[in-house]
Amino acid sequence: MALIVQKYGGSSVADPERIRRVAQRVVKTRKAGHQVVVVVSALGDTTDNLLDLAAQVSKNPPERELDMLLSTGEQVSAALLAMAIGSHGMKAISLNGPQVGIVTDRAHTQARIQAVNVDRIHRALSKGTIVIVTGFQGMTPDQEITTLGRGGSDLTAVALAKALSAKICEIYTDVEGVYTADPRIVPNARKLPTISYDEMLELASLGAQVMQARSMEMAKKYEVPLHVRSSFSRRTGTIISKEVKAMEEVVVSGVSLQKDEAKVTICDVPDRPGIAATIFTRISDVNINVDMIVQNISRTGFTDVSFTVGRLQLGKALKVARRVAAEVKAGRVAHDEGVAKVSVVGLGMRSRSGIAAKMFQALAKESVNIDMISTSEIKISCIIRKDQAARAVKALHDAFGLDKLGVRRKR
Ligand code: ADP
Ligand code: ASP
Ligand code: MG
Repeated sequence: MALIVQKYGGSSVADPERIRRVAQRVVKTRKAGHQVVVVVSALGDTTDNLLDLAAQVSKNPPERELDMLLSTGEQVSAALLAMAIGSHGMKAISLNGPQVGIVTDRAHTQARIQAVNVDRIHRALSKGTIVIVTGFQGMTPDQEITTLGRGGSDLTAVALAKALSAKICEIYTDVEGVYTADPRIVPNARKLPTISYDEMLELASLGAQVMQARSMEMAKKYEVPLHVRSSFSRRTGTIISKEVKAMEEVVVSGVSLQKDEAKVTICDVPDRPGIAATIFTRISDVNINVDMIVQNISRTGFTDVSFTVGRLQLGKALKVARRVAAEVKAGRVAHDEGVAKVSVVGLGMRSRSGIAAKMFQALAKESVNIDMISTSEIKISCIIRKDQAARAVKALHDAFGLDKLGVRRKR
């Protein structure tokens, strides 16, 4: 008998029929003798629809109230799933974030989990009850409801798997695992049998929403064993684990695309020590995550500084950029929402040269212009035009031979 955490994403519980199917799968796991803790997302597009509703009644909804609103979505699916399981004659109970004891900080809409109290879950499991937990939410020490950022049910699942020392954390979604690229963009993308925490963390941070990036940080830190698989089939998916030796032979594991990027440029910035520090301190003071930064070579004592931010943060970024431009006596502030970021990721890049050249050649062949570049040990990212993004991802996928069977790792 093992303790298994299963997380079902929004598309897996989109309607009553799918909820009944999920219930059957959960019941089957329980009947096989395992203890089961299930984490659910809100039904289908519920979270997006709730955000739309908020936008219709307020230009700038307070984040506390957004959390009150968004957390309702997961409560619906958890209760419905508990009922569906109950109708199989099995004991099941739904619990929301506060009832479970998922304690977070006060950062509404992006809260971080600080502690998980699993006593109540253990008590229920020991009586043979299946526990259904609402994903994506928690509570501050002063009883305020918080949410964990988009895709946050993955984080709930990983945090519970860690706190319960689960044997495996299964992430059920609408694709059969982690692919070499988003299968909706690249039809010949291949499912990876395994991928390392580091690679999945990079892919997720760079736009592969199959796993939430923050959930991967936690999975990596505590080495939580993950299995990403489809709720629509019985096939084995992708195991996410620590680096295995064979992985080192693979240079590039995947290509990812981030469409929600925007570029801000502060023109004619005086080229003096301390100016960049001032600009980026002001930006971080308002909690904006800056991604790439490029500063042009200065020939006249002035330079242009460009950086990218998530598109949702553009308004806030422009406001602070204009303020700091005036402060440091720079020129105008320009912005561009028509950009996207394509990246190639792979552990094997650590010990290989020529990957960047190959990436740039593949983009050049498609006449894709590169606007900004950033590299780390295991990834290279380029900012390009958004309308060329899908073509670029396909070209990179081909250039690195990711569609070919047999080039990947064997375990
Ligand atoms: P869920 O609702 O189950 O949490 P998500 O929509 O958050 O599902 O994530 C699954 C989606 O992630 C897939 O439908 C797929 O389009 C997308 N995706 C992006 N990159 C990848 C990738 N490399 N491998 C698999 N899926 C990916
Ligand atoms: N329902 C939330 C969202 O859509 C959390 C999740 O699905 O993981 O972002
Ligand atoms: Mg998701």
